[in-house]
Amino acid sequence: MSIRDNILSIKDEISNEVKLVAVSKTRSIDEIKEAYDSNQKIFGENRVQEIVEKHQLLPDDIEWHMIGHLQKNKVKYISNFITLIHSLDRISLAAEIDKCAKKSNRKIDCLIQLKISSEETKFGLDTRLLEDFYSDIQKYENINIVGLMGMASFTENQQKISDEFSQIKELYDIMNLKNSKIKNLSIGMSDDYRLAIEKGSNMIRVGSKIFGKRSY
Ligand SMILES: *Cc1c(COP(=O)(O)O)cnc(C)c1O
Repeated sequence: MSIRDNILSIKDEISNEVKLVAVSKTRSIDEIKEAYDSNQKIFGENRVQEIVEKHQLLPDDIEWHMIGHLQKNKVKYISNFITLIHSLDRISLAAEIDKCAKKSNRKIDCLIQLKISSEETKFGLDTRLLEDFYSDIQKYENINIVGLMGMASFTENQQKISDEFSQIKELYDIMNLKNSKIKNLSIGMSDDYRLAIEKGSNMIRVGSKIFGKRSY
């Protein structure tokens, strides 16, 4: 199947309410162009240098999403063009995003990344801290919190993944009821996006199912 076929078949399968973020990390400009020409306009990357280069080389109507761990000292390179940051997980990062957004005269949309997996290596905010974190960052006027993001454990155990998605959905529902700006739930990747959508995802981040297996 071609990149185009893969995108069409995923879009065919999901409803219009679910946004597809094509995860283009490690992919070439030509591969991304093929996706773009198949009417895919949202791309996600996890490295600052890569997203900056690709943003410069590709059409202006692409929405670029930062989906990976973000270092404070690199925020300045993306703050003038980034559409959505999925990986806001600490106050110091919020302060830096706010500062850079101000300089660019923008308000930057962010998702709070929650740690829902039991794995040690994953980034994300402890779910127990969400309420305090959310109220603490209200002071940052150039940040717009528009939802939550999570990554399930890397496991074959579907029940475990399902429980982790349910946990974040519950928190999302509570926040969404209180604040209509909270309207994006970014969960689900190539191997688990169907389950994620069943659990309430409205933003899926799909890489290998579109572009094929990554070779680093
Ligand atoms: C790489 C990546 C994805 C996509 O992974 P696939 O399994 O290739 O779909 C989604 N989210 C994040 C945060 C990633 O780093």
